[in-house]
Amino acid sequence: KAKKHLGQHFLTDENIARKIVEGLSFDGYQKVLEVGPGMGVLTKYLLEKDAEVFVAEIDVESVEYLKNHYPKLQEQHFTGDFLKINIDEVFDGQVAVIGNFPYNISSQILFKIIDHYEQIPEMVGMFQKEVAERTAAVPRTKDYGILSVLVQALYDVKYFFTVHENVFNPPPKVKSGVIKLTRNPKEGLEGNEVLFKQIVKAGFNQRRKKLSNALKVLNIPENLKSHPFLNKRAEELSVEDFIKFTGEWKKG
Ligand code: SAM
Repeated sequence: KAKKHLGQHFLTDENIARKIVEGLSFDGYQKVLEVGPGMGVLTKYLLEKDAEVFVAEIDVESVEYLKNHYPKLQEQHFTGDFLKINIDEVFDGQVAVIGNFPYNISSQILFKIIDHYEQIPEMVGMFQKEVAERTAAVPRTKDYGILSVLVQALYDVKYFFTVHENVFNPPPKVKSGVIKLTRNPKEGLEGNEVLFKQIVKAGFNQRRKKLSNALKVLNIPENLKSHPFLNKRAEELSVEDFIKFTGEWKKG
């Protein structure tokens, strides 16, 4: 009785579950938040670790099930809808994030993580393969885009492994991919985050055009009008290029 609208596909392979949990280092933080625990296939292994486990599960039936089967999960550690949690208030300090995420809200989950990168040192999680690949993508590929640049500006991204549809109940329509994010903010970004995001988004929103055209909407400052990057397309710029360009823009 999986609920489609909640993106429920339950992992049935214990080895994969264990491998995902082993992806976290459990180093430098005490708290771990699992998003969408469902029936607890990952939770079980998390609870074996020396960590304080929190679970964000939106489905009341799953919450009931988890409370009955994992008494170790304390009542106050159920936080409800991940997209609604106030991370700073609930966690007060560092918290790693893990999950076989609900695929209907993949990008929202990733954007929430990068918005709170100062509190989130690590994330190991499963997404639909395409999102996992876009997050890990390198320049000059079709997967390289807004998600790649915004995430990689703050985290090192590692593509762990691909997961086949048939290890879920019910099987999803697409393959899945597990990735790990390790916080490592790139130099030069601090203080420029808002403009950086605007430039990256505008650049990739018209990814076939040169940046001289794609960035027109932002009113390119005088001092950058003959910058060599403007002759390139967004996908030709590395994350460092975007950060450097943003830094010069501010001076303009
Ligand atoms: N972790 C389990 C597993 O691996 O078998 C379940 C994974 S299932 C792909 C996604 C889970 O996320 C479901 O249990 C669903 O109820 C839950 N979910 C959906 N939207 C959510 C949200 N906004 N916040 C928290 N959990 C959510």
